[in-house]
Amino acid sequence: VPELPEVEHIVRYLRPRVRGRAVEGVSAPGGRPPRALSHALVGRTITDVARRGKLVLLPLGDDRTLVVHLKLTGKLWVKEAGARPGPHDRLVLGLSGPRAARSALVLEDTRRLGWARVVDAPELAALAAAIGPEPLDPGFDLATLRARLAARGRRRLKPLLLDQAFVAGVGNIYADEVLFAARLHPLRLAGSLTPAEAAGLHATLVEVLARAVAARTDEVPDQERVAQGGRGAARRIAGLQVFQKDGLPCPRCRATIERTVVQGRGTYLCARCQPATGAPVRRRARRAAEARA
Ligand SMILES: [Zn+2]
Repeated sequence: VPELPEVEHIVRYLRPRVRGRAVEGVSAPGGRPPRALSHALVGRTITDVARRGKLVLLPLGDDRTLVVHLKLTGKLWVKEAGARPGPHDRLVLGLSGPRAARSALVLEDTRRLGWARVVDAPELAALAAAIGPEPLDPGFDLATLRARLAARGRRRLKPLLLDQAFVAGVGNIYADEVLFAARLHPLRLAGSLTPAEAAGLHATLVEVLARAVAARTDEVPDQERVAQGGRGAARRIAGLQVFQKDGLPCPRCRATIERTVVQGRGTYLCARCQPATGAPVRRRARRAAEARA
């Protein structure tokens, strides 16, 4: 499942390949493209490629934007025009270009959960407003995070991080990585964080995502692997510390990384680095108190 860094990689891959190209035709291999979509796209020029949360945005020059959500298995490729359609191609936009360089923007989606929609400015604003702040936006400061945590004090940290209305773009992989880096148990209550823990969460959220965005090494994003899902999905993402590392030693303290399930999602943590009851200091103090009693 592509999360913020992977969607950002896809955006950076697409931008030089589709910006300035006009949509010359819309087809849906194995089916008919929705007529409204063809009508809204043909003749329009893709003026840019951007991201909001996990959404890929392709502005079309007026107040309209093609919005794509890749969901579980969606991928966006630019292929040569006339390339043989793949078995999971859902939508193909023929793009303008010099004769030898004509290409097509292809939405491939095995599980068919992704979607593509042309929206006008108010609809786009509504979509964007339903998504929380961008964690890599300079405006996302500690005060912003603390206010949002305080407003949701009874929520548990992992489900909260996965909630796109709380913060944009974090999914199952990076939620676990961020909480490990911040030494916070996934089930801690948002309202239970000390000021130092909230500051740590803010710093690690920004750092883990920024590092993953910067880790892109090749020109074509590794959509294939990420979209396959399952245990292989995360293996190609460099630098993961805990996600799908159950049974391996914690890179920080050598305790064994555990797998648990939080809200139906496989969750990986080091129970020693991320104590369920809060800061290790407090637990030590309580144990000492119990020993005295
Ligand atoms: Zn550990």
